[in-house]
Amino acid sequence: MAIWKNYINGEWVPALSGKTRKVINPATEEVIAETAEGNAEDAKLAIKAAKEAFYGTGEWRRKSAQMRSDVLLQIADEMDKRRNELARTDTLDNGKPLREAEGDVDDAIHCFRYYAGMIKAPYGGIYDVNDAFGPMHSYTIHEPVGVCGQITPWNYPLLMAVWKIAPALAAGNSIVFKPSSITPLSSILLFEILDHVGLPKGCVNLVMGSGGTVGQEIAENFDVDMVTFTGSTEVGREIAKAAIGNLKKVGLELGGKSPNVIFADADLEGAVEWAMVGIFFNQGEVCSAGSRIIIEESVKDKFIERLSSRANAMTLGNGLNNPDMGPLVSEEHMNTVLNYIEIAKAEGATCVCGGYRYTEGECAKGYFVRPTIFDNCTSDMTIVKEEVFGPVVTIQTFKTEEEAVELANDTIYGLAGAVFTTDGARALRVVKEIRAGITWVNCYNPTFNEAPWGGYKMSGYGRELGIHGLEEYQEIKQVNINLAPGKLGWYEER
Ligand code: NAP
Ligand code: MG
Repeated sequence: MAIWKNYINGEWVPALSGKTRKVINPATEEVIAETAEGNAEDAKLAIKAAKEAFYGTGEWRRKSAQMRSDVLLQIADEMDKRRNELARTDTLDNGKPLREAEGDVDDAIHCFRYYAGMIKAPYGGIYDVNDAFGPMHSYTIHEPVGVCGQITPWNYPLLMAVWKIAPALAAGNSIVFKPSSITPLSSILLFEILDHVGLPKGCVNLVMGSGGTVGQEIAENFDVDMVTFTGSTEVGREIAKAAIGNLKKVGLELGGKSPNVIFADADLEGAVEWAMVGIFFNQGEVCSAGSRIIIEESVKDKFIERLSSRANAMTLGNGLNNPDMGPLVSEEHMNTVLNYIEIAKAEGATCVCGGYRYTEGECAKGYFVRPTIFDNCTSDMTIVKEEVFGPVVTIQTFKTEEEAVELANDTIYGLAGAVFTTDGARALRVVKEIRAGITWVNCYNPTFNEAPWGGYKMSGYGRELGIHGLEEYQEIKQVNINLAPGKLGWYEER
């Protein structure tokens, strides 16, 4: 089996140690690839190359916005040509249904196109400042941050990479990128494309290897100016700590335990369908998943009856065959999810449907868990408090709007949330009360390249996508020009 290499300083190179790692298809448990397994030493080489590309030659950051934009558009076009291969690769590696992987690739292509346009837009400002120092022209310019370390999770392998790489490149940065070790393959294809379009040497680097070595090095290295991370809150805290050394900029997109609040006046059929999307899309391995359904007591029974009948009808199977849901990403993660299910049962939650590993038919191999609904849940239960990151949803009930809001906010996280109601004023009131970075009304999960994404509270800080996603990768410089050169303003008068 060919070994997929790291990409450092414009070359495909094996890990310095010669170590490799096997990549597994979670639908078949088969080894589908072998990748270089880098460590801190490989990361240091990549950081050195990125530093030289930025501070030494500086070729990329000095290009006009139009030239950088053209390269981003070329990347998008190359991705478009390889759309099927990219989608298939994420399905093989992560397990998700092919149509969902195709959606990810389309979003990723448009993310490059979006930032290709945005980088040419006017920005900054001119400031009308006082003339104590003489007449001044004061304005701002945006500049790239420098060497950006980027670390991603396994749930949206290609899309999470692109949410980081597209704006960072648009802004003119150098990049050292580390994908999740579980799902590195679409990142390798993306780097083949970055190599193909001819970015300057050292401008983009791919280092595969574990979080504890490669990731830790990226987070603490003094030559890295910024680290952006998407992953668990636990690891996010480690990254923030490691980044303290040189006070590098930090962006954290972390976990969630998002409330999906449903009022009795909602269109119940619609709420059921969106709740399905909210918790079972991408096997529930979604940071913004609507994993806590908080529903008005009077409609709970009717809602659960419909939701569980829809969940029980879901087909599970190999993502390539486009089932309703694929396998969980790994055996280890499946066991974590199954363990949460057992804890929920032991703590007294009522399992309405699912709740077990599924092994029928083509699922005899692979890490499949039936869509699972727990009723009679309370805020003190582990299953309500902790992020499961799988197809498991809890149900809690309320009688008043205040109670609904209180339950919704009873979490350490603040990534997302939704409200279902036909009362427009109530929708707006509840949206204002939910402490989360993304909220939906009468829908769940739609995400757009144009709008900012990120969390409150322990779901992290910083924003990706939209104009904010570009600005995260930029510094702002204030420039003051003396319009009366040679004069010293009030200094002169003293
Ligand atoms: P994870 O375990 O935190 O890992 C994420 C990445 O961090 C991986 O590349 C991992 O490397 C690396 N890593 C691990 N330990 C590290 C360390 N000490 N220093 C630096 N890097 C380290 O998360 P995951 O299990 O892959 O993904 C699931 C989590 O991601 C969930 O909590 C989910 O909510 C969150 N997520 C959030 C968003 C969002 O936008 N807010 C989006 C998607 C996912 P290895 O795996 O290679 O060791
Ligand atoms: Mg895999």
